[in-house]
Amino acid sequence: MTVLLIRNVRPLGGAAVDVLVAQGRIAALGPDLATPADALQEDGGGALLLPGLIEGHAHLDKTTWGGPWYRNAVGPTRMHRIDNERAWRSATGHDAAARSLALARAYLANGTTRMRSHADIDPDIGLAHLRATLRTAALLAPHLEIQVVAFPQSGVVRCPGVAELMDVALAEGAHVVGGIDPCQIDRDPVAQLDALFGLVEKHGKPLDIHLHEPGEMGAFSLDLILERTEALDLRGQVTISHGFCLGMIGATERDALLARMARMDVRIATTAPAASAVPPLAICHAAGVTVYGGNDGIRDSWTPYARPDMLDRAMHIGLRNALRRDDELDVALDCVTVSAAHGCGFADYGLVVGARADLVLVDAETTGQAIVATPVRRLVVAGGEIVARDGALLD
Ligand SMILES: [Zn+2]
Repeated sequence: MTVLLIRNVRPLGGAAVDVLVAQGRIAALGPDLATPADALQEDGGGALLLPGLIEGHAHLDKTTWGGPWYRNAVGPTRMHRIDNERAWRSATGHDAAARSLALARAYLANGTTRMRSHADIDPDIGLAHLRATLRTAALLAPHLEIQVVAFPQSGVVRCPGVAELMDVALAEGAHVVGGIDPCQIDRDPVAQLDALFGLVEKHGKPLDIHLHEPGEMGAFSLDLILERTEALDLRGQVTISHGFCLGMIGATERDALLARMARMDVRIATTAPAASAVPPLAICHAAGVTVYGGNDGIRDSWTPYARPDMLDRAMHIGLRNALRRDDELDVALDCVTVSAAHGCGFADYGLVVGARADLVLVDAETTGQAIVATPVRRLVVAGGEIVARDGALLD
């Protein structure tokens, strides 16, 4: 395996150091490191050094990335988008394996070295998208580590057979139990959540549930999720994706829910959408709740927007939460780095000796500038090897 010495880089904009990479790990970090005889040398040229970026909420299987433009004419509700996607997929023979690989490679070229991606499971496609995403994960495994969520996009209770398919998916290697809007989609929250938590218990795998439900409805579902998390002692095993309700309900009710989330280390994954209420980042942090970032869908039948670039997503998190100061921009960066590692459970992370050598070099003075300018990734090291240069993957 490559021994790599990168000279003259500034970790998070600090003083210049050298970084020695060996056996896929950061072996040393400091000024004027000695050069091992077998080392490949890179001149960092004073670039800003970031740890590998982390995508906490993606849908690789849905994307049209690398294919023709999708002309979106979908109706206004979430159910319209769900039904539209299923019709489009079956009409076009959408290739989830090829498209997920194309998008995952674009993420890697932009310095994303770890990711959580939800893969649809429904009565039409069964496990085809899940297996396609697992295949992409296996192909990129040495460099981009992908957790795959068994995601019942169309519901669990209203789609007979989906809970059983999720059970098979988790036995086949899916890493996380998914879920969605137990009231709004399934119209039977107790039945959906009992099924999902049954899978969590059976497989010993974490839960990541989409909760778009507004206001009191979402707060009720969140209460049911927390009730089960507490009863089963699933500390650190549950993520609420979106959690829009936390940006809608009154402060007293919100703070009581956040206190319970902090006690059980229940995390929030936010995409910081421009047009929805969002969990308020500063208030969640003050309550001790981990918040991390994700793009959600990228150029699929749901949305024409987004890019596979976690610095860009950090900028959206900053915009949505009115972060201006440089120390506040560091909080946005944290959402796609350290908090995302904690939130998704990626170990051996960071710019420290012994961590997996996932390194990103950009031309920027500070981390704040890196977020707002989203400079081309000058060099990406993933799992100890150089995988991309000047924004392009090396093949
Ligand atoms: Zn999603």
